[in-house]
Amino acid sequence: MNAYSPYLQWVDEQHESMANLLEKWANINSGTDNLTGLQQMLDALQRAFSPLEGKAETLILRPHIKISSKGHAIEIEHGRAFRMIKRPNAPLQVLLGGHMDTVYPSHSHFQSAKRLDNETLSGPGVADMKGGLVVMLTALQALERSPFASAVGWEVFISPDEEAGSPGSEPFLHQSARRNALGLLFEPAFPDGSLVSSRKGSANFTVVARGRAAHAGRDFHAGRNAIAALARFLVEAETLNDKDKGVTFNAGHIEGGGPVNIVPDLAICRFNIRMVHPGDLKLLREELNRIISKCHTEEGLTLTLYEQTVRPPKPFNNKDQALFYALYTCAEELGFPLLNKPSGGVSDGNILSAEGLPTIDTMGVVGGNIHTHEEYMSLASLTQRAKLTAYFLMKLGNQELDLVDSKGELR
Ligand SMILES: [Zn+2]
Repeated sequence: MNAYSPYLQWVDEQHESMANLLEKWANINSGTDNLTGLQQMLDALQRAFSPLEGKAETLILRPHIKISSKGHAIEIEHGRAFRMIKRPNAPLQVLLGGHMDTVYPSHSHFQSAKRLDNETLSGPGVADMKGGLVVMLTALQALERSPFASAVGWEVFISPDEEAGSPGSEPFLHQSARRNALGLLFEPAFPDGSLVSSRKGSANFTVVARGRAAHAGRDFHAGRNAIAALARFLVEAETLNDKDKGVTFNAGHIEGGGPVNIVPDLAICRFNIRMVHPGDLKLLREELNRIISKCHTEEGLTLTLYEQTVRPPKPFNNKDQALFYALYTCAEELGFPLLNKPSGGVSDGNILSAEGLPTIDTMGVVGGNIHTHEEYMSLASLTQRAKLTAYFLMKLGNQELDLVDSKGELR
């Protein structure tokens, strides 16, 4: 029995109520575009977090600019974000972040949670990442019950647009990164329980080709074929793929044209680029612009490139490693191993890390098959991971981790 045991034991006792809360939250559809569902989820979060007695706010996000299938820039509204700040003047400030949206729209067939067995819960967002939100909440409750809370200030930030690339919450993430010493995000761990070390960077673009419509028989040569122009762009852009440098170019969606007897005047492609090295993002932007201008040689044809969402690469730097090592030690003392491995996927951790915040972003539940109708999570990981975060925060508050200097900065 040590000073932390009563609070860790309290977490263990929450197992059933954590599982029930997660089922309830998973049954609320909060697909990124479902503003009604997101509002319902926001209300549920406000109710759940209010006993922590921090300063709660709901934040209006700037709209997201999307390119319509007519090639026009249109504004898309987001749900609101939730933020709670407690003890902003404490010597150490920690960000705990997550998202309330899921990839499942309101018309999806995957709408409710189901216990597959005593150990496994399946459902929309149970792993990614409503399970993580339950973990975050329970860990903070444990911290607040303990005498170690007074030295740790914290900020909870839960966004409604992460699955769309966080276009609206990005400015808030930058703010949060600047005023905290370290970040914990509650995205799911890998199915084997490992955390994510480094992440690739990812950028989404839309390219719109506009030409001139003409009758394909009578006036073919007066027309300017937008599909052909887009095809030329894609052939060039494909050469950006570089296995050695870890650069990928993926044309994911293409649309345009109409009847085959008309020269098409519009074609649109949406594509994703990923890269490993932070410096490559700038180079890839320059390359794309070079290819665009190269395709602009013909009169009557224009190509316009829109950068939609960007998450720079998240290397596993020295400070991230120190943070991981502190968590690893906590896990070891709690009796389970904690490993890490890189991921090609992205999270808000990419944005926080690019702003200089040491961040571990997979503090949520253990689960798998995320973004599919077979998404599941391990129920035992609810208390296991909540204890990990609670233990870590209590030890930080008790100055037992040699992680932070006298100014509250990570060493
Ligand atoms: Zn997620």
